[in-house]
Amino acid sequence: MKLAIIGPPGSGKGTYAQLLEKKYHLKRITVGNILRKAAKKDKKLEKILDSGKLAPHKLVNRLLMKNIPKDNYILDGSPRRFEEAKSLIKNNQIDKAILIKVSDKTVKLRLKGRLQCPKCGRTYHIKFLKPKHDRICDYDGTKLEVREDEGVIDERLKVYRKFETPIIKYFKKLGIIKEVNGERPIKVIFKDVEKLLKD
Ligand SMILES: [Zn+2]
Repeated sequence: MKLAIIGPPGSGKGTYAQLLEKKYHLKRITVGNILRKAAKKDKKLEKILDSGKLAPHKLVNRLLMKNIPKDNYILDGSPRRFEEAKSLIKNNQIDKAILIKVSDKTVKLRLKGRLQCPKCGRTYHIKFLKPKHDRICDYDGTKLEVREDEGVIDERLKVYRKFETPIIKYFKKLGIIKEVNGERPIKVIFKDVEKLLKD
């Protein structure tokens, strides 16, 4: 299974990727984390990421090539651009995509209060997805950090919507995309996701 999970920031796609990773033993490839790691040695890239803009697609493709195993993985955070989607298809790196549909209003509500573990990249929320201990990662005990400010949230959402439509159209034409209503409880959505995987 070569999966990609697509959705706006705050759609919960990271959460579903984590659940799929656990249940189906898929390798979860968090493209954002890979880019953050690369940005430690690349000031220009760091600036791009901090502003909420997208990394150059050639760089993303190169990093994906290095990090994607042969099979059984889930991409979280790619494709973000149309060129990226085309390259994934060309290189046979994806056979199904799941789109988590969420409105702008919901995205903004959810993103305020989002926490992330700087060590493993897992995400939490002060209201919707609390860690077991206040601001501490359940998985590795690292202190969680607040994810992003409002200006960056708006920019990321704008950038996401711009590229969402052409990517979805392209994947629809290929018949590899399934849509899920992301504005319901996590358990209900995950059940739907599992059903779609078996289709
Ligand atoms: Zn952690």
